[in-house]
Amino acid sequence: MSMRKTKIGFDLDGVVIGKPFFVPDFVMEKLVRLKVDHKLTYRYPESKGEQYIRYLSHHPLLRPPIRKNIKLIKELYKSNKYELFVVSSRYSFLDERTKDWFRFYKLRKFFKDIHINMKNEQPHIYKERMIKKLKLEVFIDDDKPLLNYLKKRIKKVDLVYVSDQHKHFSKK
Ligand SMILES: [Mg+2]
Repeated sequence: MSMRKTKIGFDLDGVVIGKPFFVPDFVMEKLVRLKVDHKLTYRYPESKGEQYIRYLSHHPLLRPPIRKNIKLIKELYKSNKYELFVVSSRYSFLDERTKDWFRFYKLRKFFKDIHINMKNEQPHIYKERMIKKLKLEVFIDDDKPLLNYLKKRIKKVDLVYVSDQHKHFSKK
């Protein structure tokens, strides 16, 4: 008989995968987030051109793993006490790229399932839905406004904020 395992969910970009080093944070922020009446709204790149640029920028070589967090993930996996999931709001056009990334760095086996946002929902809506659906007990993300949103709606889940350790640029 095996003990019930604690289910932990990880966001992908900024938690497992580093951001491309040549793009300043404030530009990244502009690319992904829309500020409308203080509501949490994210941009979906509608044009094929922009989708293609995002696709290119997600090449595995430009997106190194965040070593510190990978080390933790491997330790959790080896302890046999946890079931690890990825819940990323990456849109559907990054599906193949995401699979490539896990193949390239040989990290697929540490996760029970890897979920990305195949219906291109708003990221916070998608993550709330998936955390409930998978019955995650812990969820780790680097997006503070998103975690604040989730905190108001999901009471029993440990929501953990981590900051990207590999910042090369910052907005003054
Ligand atoms: Mg993130």
